[in-house]
Amino acid sequence: MQKDLPNLPSVPSVTGLIHHPYMAPGGFEAPQPGVFKASTVYFPTVADMRQREWKDKSAYTYGLHGTPTTYLLEERLCALEGGLQCVLVPSGLAALALVALAVMKTGDEVLIPDNAYGPNKALAAGELRHFGITHRFYDPMDPDDLARQITPSSRLVWLEAPGSVSMEFPDLPEMVRRCRERGVLCALDNTWGAGLAFKPFDLLADGDGGEGSLAVDISAHALTKYPSGGGDVLMGSVITRDAALHLQIKLCHMRLGLGVAANDAETVLRSLPSIALRYAAHDQTARALAAWWQTQPQCAQLMHPAFEGAPGHAQWQALCDREPGTGLAAGLFSVMIDARYSQAQVDAFCDGLKLFKIGYSWGGPVSLVVPYDIASMRQSWPSHLKPGILVRFSTGLESAQDLILDLHQAVQAHLPMA
Ligand SMILES: *Cc1c(COP(=O)(O)O)cnc(C)c1O
Repeated sequence: MQKDLPNLPSVPSVTGLIHHPYMAPGGFEAPQPGVFKASTVYFPTVADMRQREWKDKSAYTYGLHGTPTTYLLEERLCALEGGLQCVLVPSGLAALALVALAVMKTGDEVLIPDNAYGPNKALAAGELRHFGITHRFYDPMDPDDLARQITPSSRLVWLEAPGSVSMEFPDLPEMVRRCRERGVLCALDNTWGAGLAFKPFDLLADGDGGEGSLAVDISAHALTKYPSGGGDVLMGSVITRDAALHLQIKLCHMRLGLGVAANDAETVLRSLPSIALRYAAHDQTARALAAWWQTQPQCAQLMHPAFEGAPGHAQWQALCDREPGTGLAAGLFSVMIDARYSQAQVDAFCDGLKLFKIGYSWGGPVSLVVPYDIASMRQSWPSHLKPGILVRFSTGLESAQDLILDLHQAVQAHLPMA
């Protein structure tokens, strides 16, 4: 110990613990990837720190900019959706907000389908409006209405297939064509399709999203739903196939300080291998329940895109069911309960369900139910919707038979025929 150093008590074991020299051997391989957690990432030298590249996943600079765990999840999500670049954000709503903030500035306008995920509309009416970004709502079932509403200040068009409450399935390829013709960016909220029901970057299924394919510019996905599959993690992704557009989003992502926790990323990585099996099971159960509702006089209208007569059925068939009978349709559907029932009766029906829990979100193992007030959610009552009170069901992974028995008992108890 040198004379001019203060005589501090030495606790060598602590330093030894923190700077312990042992390194586990590399090359560990197992079904689930490792969970790498960091804010700080080390650089061997200052020179290395100064020249380290973080934007292209060639290296690591800071936990917020990515770790092996998040890079891996990003790449697997690109594989799922047919994209080339991905950024992860802490929720699905953050994915929608990131897209808006990354591509728009004061004076721009965003066009949103009138049946869009509610908080996306609220973002437009709140922060975006405060920033001098205007918005308009278009009829999701009318590509001509979308085309009519595009003006020189239109910068971004949101697409959603189907709308997440009233379940109308739009003519997505035609909507994208209209955006292309007018040179407006189009972003899809791809939460329902999840990369499984259709390919957002290859809408005509004639390519891989490369040159010549009909593709959205941006796919935003609430990983909270099917990729998580557990009802226990919030996360979102923004996927592109254009390096410049991705960089614009990635830089905005960095400046906003958006990141996801490694344990959450790991949860999604663990669920991803089973997503197709789960999605098909949710779908099958939803169709069994929807078919049962069709036989019930209390049901004024069924909103499930795979059912004949439902709003957007033909559009769903054209995009998702190219080989008839093979199309996928997620585990969501809505029922318009006949207008002769009061809100109190419909609420009592929801409360009376035992297996269906009352709660937002979807994609987890437990079936969920929520009554919605369509009149307060839309610019005007859509002409294709019958009057009544809308109840949305999200099927979990329970047996369809048990769920139908549950629906039956609650209908009998709370929605009397006479
Ligand atoms: C749930 C959902 C979101 C938002 O996801 P969160 O992770 O809950 O923020 C966005 N769009 C759609 C269609 C959704 O269903």
